[in-house]
Formats: sequence, structure tokens, C-alpha cells
Amino acid sequence: MIVPSARRILLKLSGEVLMGNQQFGIDPATVAELAQEVKDAKDTGLEICLVIGGGNIFRGMAGAAQGMDRAQADYMGMLATIMNALAMQNALEQLGVSTRVQSAIQMDAVCEPVIRRRAERHLEKGRVVIFAAGVGSPYFTTDSGAALRAAEMKCDVLMKGTSVDGVYDSDPKKNPEASRFGTVTYDRVLADNLKVMDASAVALCRDNAIPIVVFSIREKGNLARVLTGEGVQTIVKEEA
Ligand code: UDP
Repeated sequence: MIVPSARRILLKLSGEVLMGNQQFGIDPATVAELAQEVKDAKDTGLEICLVIGGGNIFRGMAGAAQGMDRAQADYMGMLATIMNALAMQNALEQLGVSTRVQSAIQMDAVCEPVIRRRAERHLEKGRVVIFAAGVGSPYFTTDSGAALRAAEMKCDVLMKGTSVDGVYDSDPKKNPEASRFGTVTYDRVLADNLKVMDASAVALCRDNAIPIVVFSIREKGNLARVLTGEGVQTIVKEEA
């Protein structure tokens, strides 16, 4: 196990990984593959909290850049995360995994509100809990939502599944010489503004000693490989 004795993990998936090869939205076949990754991780005995972004559908910053009111646009982004959460719930349940969606924006007809103690019971019963709508407030991101839920649910690690295989000292898409960190400290990430998660999310993980494992979720079987320490990733923690 990448984090020794980890029992409960929070898996954060950026919305864009749900697009597959599309430019926008939700690709059901890709969501089914991701759900299989989650099931495989769960079958190893881990308790799993899931947070999914909304960037495949709408980002508040993009709306604001086109003249929308930022807060209004952010609420639209949060609603996008609920759609993604429902898509993932559907895919997991088709694989026989019991799930609950809890949303920070109340939407009683489709999911539960976020209630920590109830989420705790779901995990004890072997359900995957999908936390939607981030922290429920504009000007935040689902990375902050992930860090917050990881802290309150006492997760042993925050696994950030994205389209790159770790944290680099410069943008690997622009600089062929960029090198990937094996481990890096929270303070270095914050001081050098390395692209891991937004600063409030990193600081929350640092203050609660939650390691962040950044890895690519695009390759099949990678979550399981990373969890067993056989994959490629960057670990953000107190000491490098
Ligand atoms: N958002 C927000 N508050 C939150 C979480 C999300 O306002 O607590 C909005 C914000 O506009 C964000 C969008 O929802 O751009 C989608 O989330 P995010 O960008 O984190 O998705 P990801 O990049 O992980 O796909």
C-alpha cells in the first residue's frame, strides 16, 4: 500500500477524465471503465469516498471570462459536478457496487445532503460515498471539496486521479526537459505554485497531514497499481 495501513481513501477525479476522447461532457464507456477501477480498489478492502469535478461540463472561471457573474457561473459548475456524480453512481451500481451521492447543494429528489455521520455509516456498510457540489460555495473548486471531505471523513490519503502521471517542475506539455517529482513537500508545492491542486486544498491537506498522491487515471489498472506502490505517481507530504 502506497500509504502504509491506509484503510480509507478519498479519490478525486477531475471532470475531464469522464470525457474520454470527447471534447466535452460524459462518455458512458469511459465512466464505466473508471467505475471498474473504483470497484477493483474497493474489492481490496478499502473504504472509498469519491469526489468528481465538473470541468468536462462547466467551469465558473470560464463563464466569468466570458462576462458572466462569477458566483452565478460557479453555481453552474457545482451543478455540473452533481451530473457527474450521478453518472458515476449509475456506472458503479451497474457493477453491483452500492453507493450514495451526498451533495453540498441540497437536491432532495436525486441525492442526500452532506451529512458526515450518515456518510460514516454508509462507508461502514461498504458503500462508496460520492460527494458532489464541492464545498457548496462559489470561489472554490472540487479540489478544495476533496480536501475538506478527506479531512472530515478522516481519510488516510487523497488520491488525485488526473490526466498526467504526477507533479512536474515545469509543464511537461511545453518543456520536454520537465522532470517529475517522486515526492515533494506541501510547502514546495505552495511556494513554487506547482500545479497539483489549488492552494487552499493543498494547505488543508498539509494542516491535517493528509498525503496527496497525484497519478494518471487514464491508463487502465493504474489506480490499483498506484495503491500497491507499483505505479508512477508523485506523493505530496510533509517531508520529501
Ligand atoms: N465549484 C465551486 N465551488 C466548489 C466546487 C466547484 O464553485 O466548491 C465550481 C467552479 O466553478 C468549478 C466548477 O464548479 O470551476 C467545476 O469544478 P472543478 O473546476 O473543480 O472541476 P475539475 O477541474 O476537477 O473537473
